[in-house]
Amino acid sequence: MTASQRIRTVGDTADVIILGAGPAGLVLGNLLRTSGIDCLVVERAERAHLRTRARAGFLAANTVRILDRHGLAEGLHRRGHEHSTCEFRTDDGRFRLDYGGLGRGERHTVYPQQELVTDLLTHYLDIGGRISFGTEAVAVTGVDSSRPSVSVRGPDGRPEQWRARYVAGCDGRHGAARRSLPSGAVRRHHRDHGVSWLGLLAEAPPSLDAVGYAIHPRGFAGHMARTPEVTRYYLQCERGESADAWSDERIWDELALRMRAAQYGELHRGPIIQRAVVDLESDVLEPLRHGSLLLAGDAASLLSPSAAKGANLAVLEAEILARALVDDLAHGDATGLERYSEQSLAYIRRAQEFSQWMIQLLHGAPDSDGGPLLHGPLGPARIESLRTSRSQQDWFAERYVGV
Ligand code: FAD
Repeated sequence: MTASQRIRTVGDTADVIILGAGPAGLVLGNLLRTSGIDCLVVERAERAHLRTRARAGFLAANTVRILDRHGLAEGLHRRGHEHSTCEFRTDDGRFRLDYGGLGRGERHTVYPQQELVTDLLTHYLDIGGRISFGTEAVAVTGVDSSRPSVSVRGPDGRPEQWRARYVAGCDGRHGAARRSLPSGAVRRHHRDHGVSWLGLLAEAPPSLDAVGYAIHPRGFAGHMARTPEVTRYYLQCERGESADAWSDERIWDELALRMRAAQYGELHRGPIIQRAVVDLESDVLEPLRHGSLLLAGDAASLLSPSAAKGANLAVLEAEILARALVDDLAHGDATGLERYSEQSLAYIRRAQEFSQWMIQLLHGAPDSDGGPLLHGPLGPARIESLRTSRSQQDWFAERYVGV
């Protein structure tokens, strides 16, 4: 028997099949389910893995408002904490910005992404949401029709084909949704900033009560609180370098040097529990809809972690998409779906522009179009105006916390 003969086609599996149980897919699933829309989430990973996959941690005030609006913020109010200060360290000294007192006066809530995902998942299951763990979406077909289908490989390895009215691609940049777009259906705006960061999680308490950005002749170093026991650090590294080339000792010595720990206070050291190289790039598709396939979160737009916007955009887009799908499926009003892409891209572009601005603040500007980033004479000028200009600080605060 050939593989195609073994495929089982299940008639109408759900009104909406959601690929991926990250922040985008789970916010969408919760909102659809609450509105009585029949949906099914398809997730490649097992449930236990989702609970431990550490990534983002800084939630914008607007993200918290969205989660509050839909009764999804209980955990983050209980276990997260508010954060509103960042500190810049350069050869010229250090200065702090209390961004919570600038711009719109908004703060971040620090809450690890894996905890948010766990809360969203628990809520989704509590309200009777359907999810298939350990199930990989292989391809989405028939997106030009009103009955698209998703080919999946389930936990037992058996291929199946599931049908819906709409498919929401919330399965990240390398997921099946992006791969299934017919060639020429969307434009891809890709920019590689030519800089790589070694993303680290340390089993150690935060070393300062602020986000730390250190600009050093040896490269950038960053410090971001996560929980009282775990801290995220970043170290600029060579492109193509292996994370395994960095021993715990080398990491801590380099962090201490670049963060000028001898001058400003020693770092709390501990075992490095996660290390991965992240190339700073943006990869945005346009439009975010092709027929009955809609994209949200990293599947729609991958942004570098330089301004911590990805998870926030994922939640925002999921809310916009949920409203549009409910309007269409429950009330026969397709206006929201027609506007979904344009509306979301307006937010994405602003976030993308600020992420790019942050990269140039931390790494300098290219000397020519497409050239490498250099901390030339203009680098300190950008930091200096952030240190001294109140209007620049207000501008920064609004974009740093906002989406
Ligand atoms: P994901 O969270 O990637 O979820 C996609 C899901 O789809 C996954 O569960 C995956 O297993 C599943 N999947 C993939 N392929 C398939 C398939 N074929 N079939 C079925 N399932 C599939 N953002 C912030 O806002 N603030 C931060 O502070 C921040 N820090 C970051 C730090 C790091 C080191 C990194 C890497 C990212 C950071 N981000 C941050 C970005 C943020 O984590 C992402 O933007 C966010 O996870 C996007 O959510 P998503 O739901 O779109 O995708």
